[in-house]
Amino acid sequence: MSLKEKLFAAGVVGCGGAGFPTHVKLSGNIEHLILNGAECEPLLRTDRYIMTNFAKELVQTAEAVRAELGAEDCTFGLKKGYTSEIAALSAEIEAQKVSNRIFLHTMDSFYPAGDEQTLVREVTGKTVPPAGIPLDVGCAVTNVATLYCIYHALRDEPFTAKYLTVTGEVAHPTVLKVPLGTSFRECIELAGGALCDEYFLVSGGPMMGRPIPQEQLDKEYVTKTTSGILVLPKDGYLSNHSAIPISHMLNRAHSACIQCSYCTQMCPRHLMGHPLQPHLIMRKTALSGKLDGLLSDPEIQKRPAG
Ligand code: SF4
Repeated sequence: MSLKEKLFAAGVVGCGGAGFPTHVKLSGNIEHLILNGAECEPLLRTDRYIMTNFAKELVQTAEAVRAELGAEDCTFGLKKGYTSEIAALSAEIEAQKVSNRIFLHTMDSFYPAGDEQTLVREVTGKTVPPAGIPLDVGCAVTNVATLYCIYHALRDEPFTAKYLTVTGEVAHPTVLKVPLGTSFRECIELAGGALCDEYFLVSGGPMMGRPIPQEQLDKEYVTKTTSGILVLPKDGYLSNHSAIPISHMLNRAHSACIQCSYCTQMCPRHLMGHPLQPHLIMRKTALSGKLDGLLSDPEIQKRPAG
């Protein structure tokens, strides 16, 4: 079987969140394979755990995939502060004698370093076009946890277990390896149990994760895209924030935004040159009281000057 047939047969999908089928993602004319170890979400430690403990398998698989795709370059992208992960990968790159084909690119610790488009820009200097994908600039980006699944797929082992972080208000924050379908309740118990009676859950990280009320705990199970479970205080910031209705947010936009444009000046997509200006979104939202049609508004889509 070819690489893509093995990935399809093993059921490998992106572990970073979106769950896009990997055999599709690794199609097309790929010049640069980028392996995402920047772990975008604060609090999650899954990718760091995999890089530290399975560096040998990751480097071996990176080279196998690079060769199969015919990609000229292959780069692990991670943060400068990940010293043990950098040491583990560097040692394996040397040991496997692939230092002329597999590279490390280290970045400052900023959000969203692990965003696919940001990572392409950081590693290659190329900008993925608005609404485009990395393949538009000859790149494919694969999360390191997905790369570890590819390692198993190449050995005809299907994707049936998941590494995930369980942290927050639990007795022993940890990274677990559990079979797909394991209940969230069991994962929390494996992390020593919740430290408070009433809590709020997030599936994933605090920035992009899915909020889950405690009452729904027994309806939640680990899937291929579960990267973490956060157990947070019920009266904490994220819990309170997730309860704010859209109408209230619109009222806030109307009353609090002073059009300073800092949000545009610091917007990662705007800084890349994409025609997105959040302060104009705030202005339009405040004036119209609606969210509909904002992203297709020609004024908001104006390209940044310079
Ligand atoms: S939303 Fe943007 S423009 Fe409005 S006050 Fe905040 S940073 Fe300034």
